[in-house]
Amino acid sequence: MATVPTITLNNGVEIPQLGFGVYQIPPEDTAEAVGAALEIGYRHIDTAEMYGNEKGVGEAVRNSGIPRDEIFVTSKLNNGFHRRDDALRAFDQTLADLGLETLDLFLIHWPLPTIDVDYVETWKAMEEIYRSGRCRSIGVSNFNAHHLRRLFAETEIRPAVNQIEIHPYLAQDELRAFDADHEIVTEAWSPIAQGKVLDDPAVVRVAERYSKTPAQVVLRWHIQRGDVVFPKSVTRSRMEENFALFDFELDGDSMGDLSALDRNERTGPDPDTFAYIPR
Ligand code: NAD
Repeated sequence: MATVPTITLNNGVEIPQLGFGVYQIPPEDTAEAVGAALEIGYRHIDTAEMYGNEKGVGEAVRNSGIPRDEIFVTSKLNNGFHRRDDALRAFDQTLADLGLETLDLFLIHWPLPTIDVDYVETWKAMEEIYRSGRCRSIGVSNFNAHHLRRLFAETEIRPAVNQIEIHPYLAQDELRAFDADHEIVTEAWSPIAQGKVLDDPAVVRVAERYSKTPAQVVLRWHIQRGDVVFPKSVTRSRMEENFALFDFELDGDSMGDLSALDRNERTGPDPDTFAYIPR
């Protein structure tokens, strides 16, 4: 089984650079999918309250026979819970649904700058959660530099992670550099743009050069850039394919060919305008 490299977060916690994402996996299928991922060798699972499948993730982790401290579990604070008391309760609910005593990483899912609850209040609640000892690290998702600058100015603990949309069509080099300058690890969500980049002729050419699949070369591009990735699939052969990234290396030209595809194209919402619609 390949050894996945780890990255050290700014508080000393180690995160496996490759994980398994569970967005859009139906709740009833999640325990099986995560169980398969753990069998294949994934030791990092990325879920969220919003995905409605934390129970399945927890079930698979608890039933895997793998020591709890060998699996890195991330979840995220959903959009309706940005007030302090709501955030604290939502974290308790996440742990209860996972059936775990501690979480490895908890993120604010979206900054929601357009709602009346300031994300600075939310971050202060995240700090309380971290200090309670029930969460090994805290971070943010979909934060731009201006959101992060406010946290630096108005709060005490620096986020360990910023999880943002990144793939060859949206390389995000400026925000990744900002994160790195502030000791924040960047995580790339939708790393293969939900499949949209896989039939791009440039991606196919690089894949042919290495006798690898388009998904493998794109995921390898992320790994060599230093970001954390967690591709999603419910198909076992694809889970295996997406895990097999450590027996080859892209040369500078191939890295450049994939980076040249950047055209600032999102598959998901823009964090500055994303409007929260209550459930
Ligand atoms: P992804 O880029 O991982 O693409 C997943 C889709 O690509 C699958 O549904 C499948 O159809 C296809 N696919 C996967 N492997 C393939 C392969 N080897 N060959 C061909 N097709 C393949 O998209 P994603 O699920 O949106 O993103 C990954 C994870 O990122 C999510 O599961 C979630 O954990 C996280 N995420 C976070 C946010 C956020 O706001 N923080 C938003 C979206 C996703």
